[in-house]
Amino acid sequence: MSPSRILVLNSGSSSVKYQLIDMADRSRLAAGLAERIGEETSTVTHQPLAAGGERRTRTGRLADHGAALGAVAEELAADGLGLDSPELAAIGHRVVHGGLRLTEPTVVDDAVLEEIERLVPVAPLHNPANLTGIRTAQRLRPDLPQVAVFDTAFHSTMPEHAARYAIDTETADAHRVRRYGFHGTSHAYVSRKAAELLGKDPGEVNLIVLHLGNGASASAVRGGRCEDTSMGLTPLEGLVMGTRSGDIDPAVVFHLKRVAGMDADAVDELLNKRSGLLGLCGDNDMREIRRRIDAGDRAAALAFDIYIHRLKKYIGAYYAVLGRVDAVVFTAGVGENAAPVREAAVAGLAELGLAVDGELNTAAGREARLISPGYARVAVAVVPTDEELEIAEQTYALVAPSRAAPTPGGAAPESFST
Ligand code: ADP
Repeated sequence: MSPSRILVLNSGSSSVKYQLIDMADRSRLAAGLAERIGEETSTVTHQPLAAGGERRTRTGRLADHGAALGAVAEELAADGLGLDSPELAAIGHRVVHGGLRLTEPTVVDDAVLEEIERLVPVAPLHNPANLTGIRTAQRLRPDLPQVAVFDTAFHSTMPEHAARYAIDTETADAHRVRRYGFHGTSHAYVSRKAAELLGKDPGEVNLIVLHLGNGASASAVRGGRCEDTSMGLTPLEGLVMGTRSGDIDPAVVFHLKRVAGMDADAVDELLNKRSGLLGLCGDNDMREIRRRIDAGDRAAALAFDIYIHRLKKYIGAYYAVLGRVDAVVFTAGVGENAAPVREAAVAGLAELGLAVDGELNTAAGREARLISPGYARVAVAVVPTDEELEIAEQTYALVAPSRAAPTPGGAAPESFST
């Protein structure tokens, strides 16, 4: 049997999320999370999935990503799934920024590492952690293909008129200032699944995909290709998010510098970490915000209204960009779970053919499903995202092209979702 297992690694600045997937039948063998890397007490939470084993948590200091991956390797080995297994075909890495050159899943070599490094100035929080993850995995299994799958890749089809900011071209080009978009792996996966749900070929459908997690982004997808997306040079642009402001008049930055003496780092921190829902009402978890609204809290209600107003503006904008829309698709933590968000986002848009059915919208479910009434001209759908499976698919297609075939995958494990 040729090797068919893919280890998917998503390395953040202080965490590594992982899943081991057998591409022979798309089954999950294990999933887990190493977190608080570099702090006094780090933890590894490991869930064996193949034999239905118990979840295990180990604590202790993990000084760096090398130590964290070492601990992950030990957990996998304890289940007989060690990294030395001949059944492991490749390691697939989520890499946030691939820039203009890295627009396809790529087997990592020195030139690829250099390019990811060159992009650090436009992804200072993410690319360094992704690089560390790849380098550590290379040390653990130097003989194995390491594949980088880029968050920006799906958006590389954006036409220039959507990708360029209206600023001086020379300055923009000199510093690579343009719109790249993020969450691409999720938008790609969800677009394909939504087409499947509609019983159509992805090439035939136009979609507005709303990835609403802690980070949030919208995209306009025509015939399986991204035509516009709400995140830009960085993941700060666009929708109101858990802690990020999304769209804002850039003059706010100069204003705060002049009147409050805030330098670039201070404003960066404000807009990325102390804004969005958190900045507006003190909570960034939509569950808590809904609880507070139900208890009559006005700050939470206003934060919700601001969140929905922005979402609606993007739905309208992308409707206009696409001209014809087959479905509006909700995904990620908020999109998959928060019925009130879905209801409010399309409320009043009947003239555009958009509506949700109250019962379908509030019915529990983890499957891809339609929540619009039968009469609606435009479908509204909930499609759970699965970035790990998508990374594994793309990695496997690259290392075992003759055997990779898009077959329906099993459901993602409930924990460790994106
Ligand atoms: P990310 O991967 O960006 O960290 P997720 O896609 O996992 O985020 O989404 C996390 C967010 O989803 C939480 O912050 C919370 O606001 C929201 N969420 C999760 N479950 C629910 C729920 N049942 N109802 C409403 N919101 C939820």
